[in-house]
Amino acid sequence: MESCIFCKIINGDIPSEKVYEDDKVYAFKDLNPEAPIHILIIPKTHITNTNEINEENASVISSLFISVAKIAKMLNVDESGYRVVNNCGKQGGQTVEHLHFHMLGGRDLTWPPG
Ligand code: 5GP
Ligand code: ZN
Repeated sequence: MESCIFCKIINGDIPSEKVYEDDKVYAFKDLNPEAPIHILIIPKTHITNTNEINEENASVISSLFISVAKIAKMLNVDESGYRVVNNCGKQGGQTVEHLHFHMLGGRDLTWPPG
């Protein structure tokens, strides 16, 4: 999608600090980190948000979560723990309309998040 900033990050038009990539997934550091580790994990295909998850893109969605486990090991937070967050739609706090999972770690995270 041409106007989408995360599609632009995937195709390299907007620079990003890559953490992980495979054929279906791209992961990079959040511009405004809320924790020492704050990674955004996104599908390479444009999916707007969790409302668009279906049987047809199920393999992409499973790849996103497989990459969570890989990144956790890579960044050494698999033992200490981390949080995976998705914001969907206006009241859910979604500001970028390309599906993304936030992966937060490296400090004690409060719950509920507020
Ligand atoms: P949302 O609020 O939609 O769940 O999260 C969007 C996230 O994208 C925010 O945490 C914001 O800091 C991050 N973000 C927005 N624009 C950019 C960008 O151009 N580069 C990077 N690395 N992160 C971005
Ligand atoms: Zn997009």
